[in-house]
Amino acid sequence: MKALLVAEYRDGKLLNSTYELVAFAEQLGADSVMFLVGSENMLPQYDGTLYLADSSKYSEFNPVVHKQMLLDVITKEQPDMVVFSHSSYGWDLAPRISLALNAAHVSEVVDIINGVPVVPVCNGKLRREVKVKTTQMVVTLQSGVFSLDVEPSGSPTVVPIDTEVAVQLVFCGYEEAETGGVDLSKAEVIVSAGRGIGKPENIEMIAQLAKALGGEFGASRPVVDAEWAEHNRQVGTTGQTVSPKLYVACGISGAIQHLAGMKKSEFVVAINTDKDAPIGEIADVFVIADLKQFVPVLTEKLVNI
Ligand code: FAD
Repeated sequence: MKALLVAEYRDGKLLNSTYELVAFAEQLGADSVMFLVGSENMLPQYDGTLYLADSSKYSEFNPVVHKQMLLDVITKEQPDMVVFSHSSYGWDLAPRISLALNAAHVSEVVDIINGVPVVPVCNGKLRREVKVKTTQMVVTLQSGVFSLDVEPSGSPTVVPIDTEVAVQLVFCGYEEAETGGVDLSKAEVIVSAGRGIGKPENIEMIAQLAKALGGEFGASRPVVDAEWAEHNRQVGTTGQTVSPKLYVACGISGAIQHLAGMKKSEFVVAINTDKDAPIGEIADVFVIADLKQFVPVLTEKLVNI
């Protein structure tokens, strides 16, 4: 089994998601080679062959050009799998590669079992194993799911790419999304509201606890989708990735998309009525209680310390 890993960089730095691709290949038990449109000064710690295309020549983001270069590498390496991050770059490029190869496309992979990719269904409540019929497959990996057990090491054997392609698109740059003054990624304490808060008025209860702990409040996606909180408060794959010292999950079940955004928290407290909620598996302290009773009492005690 051989995997071609498509790395990415932003603002002159290799993205950490590159190591998620490496971890995926390791879990798959595959040999791997890597592809990067970037430069010599952003190479990953990686023990393998890296095909490097100079981004100053081929542009940081140009799906037409990058597709052509990738196809050349695929022809040479004949990988069984082409692996992208589930990012805007991956969303654009991966389907183009699937079509060009006539290979199965499996999006948002969260696990791999005996070489079979696993994807979430029913808003993450269930998982589906996807058996493909084509010999090659193109996958995108959900962020934050695969991680290396040890620090990455090694230096790649760089193979420069020098493909003649007519540049048909111009990349204008990335624009940071507005965060409206809230930057959860820098917060040391985050208290997050899940669907279990029941109604929008209860957001205030969560905000009060966050304030008493000297932190910010966050939210799971259903809370944001219901417009009980702004999107800049959402934690998870389609929200922010956070790593506070303390994360308090109130009425949050622990879906993989939420965990992907907060599992690097140093200490996790979960408050949930369901003793079997998956968040309990990663919580350091699991309080089995109705948050509507527990949170106000805790807040009051903290305020009166
Ligand atoms: P639920 O899963 O409904 O859980 C509610 C929890 O509250 C339950 O465990 C319940 O026992 C508990 N509860 C109920 N009442 C109380 C009470 N009174 N006191 C205490 N506990 C109570 N989700 C995210 O959060 N972030 C993302 O970025 C994200 N991105 C996604 C991207 C994609 C492509 C997809 C498909 C899904 C995404 N999701 C995301 C959704 C995710 O799959 C889950 O649906 C979501 O995280 C569930 O939110 P929740 O835990 O608040 O709600």
